[in-house]
Amino acid sequence: MFILESKAQLEKAIAKAMKVRIQVKFIAFGVYSVKGSQGKFYTVSCKRIGNQKIVECSCLGADKGLVCYHAAGALSLHIGLARQRQTT
Ligand SMILES: [Zn+2]
Repeated sequence: MFILESKAQLEKAIAKAMKVRIQVKFIAFGVYSVKGSQGKFYTVSCKRIGNQKIVECSCLGADKGLVCYHAAGALSLHIGLARQRQTT
């Protein structure tokens, strides 16, 4: 789990997500299933608590507080969806 503070945090992870071409599946708003490079599926959840954006991923890296590329992939979808919601 990590707290998303800025997009800069995600840059490296997004680059990796693009490189390994991860697949992100929408489950519900804020919950995504991400297929990692090893073919394993991870669940990423994004939620807002107060002013903090909390991102959780079921992989080991995220467990240690790292910004993993699964989370980055799911977040890019999530941010797009959140933006759409605000405008509708
Ligand atoms: Zn992860």
